[in-house]
Amino acid sequence: MTLSHFAPNPDAQTAFPTEVPVLIVGGGPVGLTSALLLARQGVRSLLIERHPGTSIHPRARGLNIRTMEIFRSLGLEGAIRAAGASLDRNRYLLWVETLAGAEIRRIPVNGGFDEARPRRV
Ligand SMILES: Cc1cc2nc3c(=O)[nH]c(=O)nc-3n(C[C@H](O)[C@H](O)[C@H](O)COP(=O)(O)OP(=O)(O)OC[C@H]3O[C@@H](n4cnc5c(N)ncnc54)[C@H](O)[C@@H]3O)c2cc1C
Repeated sequence: MTLSHFAPNPDAQTAFPTEVPVLIVGGGPVGLTSALLLARQGVRSLLIERHPGTSIHPRARGLNIRTMEIFRSLGLEGAIRAAGASLDRNRYLLWVETLAGAEIRRIPVNGGFDEARPRRV
């Protein structure tokens, strides 16, 4: 892919490549994982993200098994588990109209989400 429409930034500390095999737009889970999986196959990529850092809002309370299998194959399982917050004080899943609005539905999660976590036996 040619990046000729990107104007070079004269203040950039490192040279911006003008041609890359794969351009990934977005550094969310899909973009970041794609970059790692491509790198594992020896394919170079350039990932661009419009935000300078990670989101300040939580965007996942759990990952499904296949997702963790892929992270594990990339050697990321430990880091991801360490970065996760404990949910043992969460007792309900709530559906609400807005954050301060009317509650639509509430599901108790007995013992908190930690009880539902898979464990090695
Ligand atoms: C409140 C909440 C709770 C959730 N809970 C769960 C959960 O428990 N489990 C689960 O699996 N999922 C959960 N999700 C969903 C999960 O967060 C999304 O499915 C996941 O983030 C999608 O990843 P993505 O990489 O496709 O997109 P995103 O995470 O949206 O990433 C896209 C990225 O692309 C960037 N971008 C977009 N356009 C451009 C552009 N033109 N140039 C540069 N950068 C750009 C954005 O800034 C963003 O960083 C939750 C989401 C929310 C909001």
